[in-house]
Amino acid sequence: MQILTEILELKTEDRVQIVDITHNVDAAIAESGLRKGLVNIYSKHSTSAVFINENESGLLSDYLNLIGKLVPTGDNYQHDRIDNNADSHLRSFIIGNNETVPFENGSMNLGTWQSVFFLDMDGPRNRKITITIMGE
Ligand code: ZN
Repeated sequence: MQILTEILELKTEDRVQIVDITHNVDAAIAESGLRKGLVNIYSKHSTSAVFINENESGLLSDYLNLIGKLVPTGDNYQHDRIDNNADSHLRSFIIGNNETVPFENGSMNLGTWQSVFFLDMDGPRNRKITITIMGE
């Protein structure tokens, strides 16, 4: 078994932005030369998230509305006293910062309607996502 790492660098343009990184992850797997294993997609930032779901614009808009209802902006958070981005951190807690996906024949074994997304919740910023490919 081999373990390979690639850093995916993204530059977001809005405070809240969803980026489909499926093709970036599959490109890293193809470059690795590994055929079968697991890939972990890990955001190195505490105000962002990684998730898997369907890339349909209405659904993604619904998702952002839901997250906004669950964790409203400026809800008297203690962290806002020092950094003014508590909503971003709390949303990150709820969603999570990484996903692990099986791959086979050089690409992720995702469901037909599944894509891998990076979600920035405190942009615009330069962001780094660690892609760790474990397999043979
Ligand atoms: Zn903060």
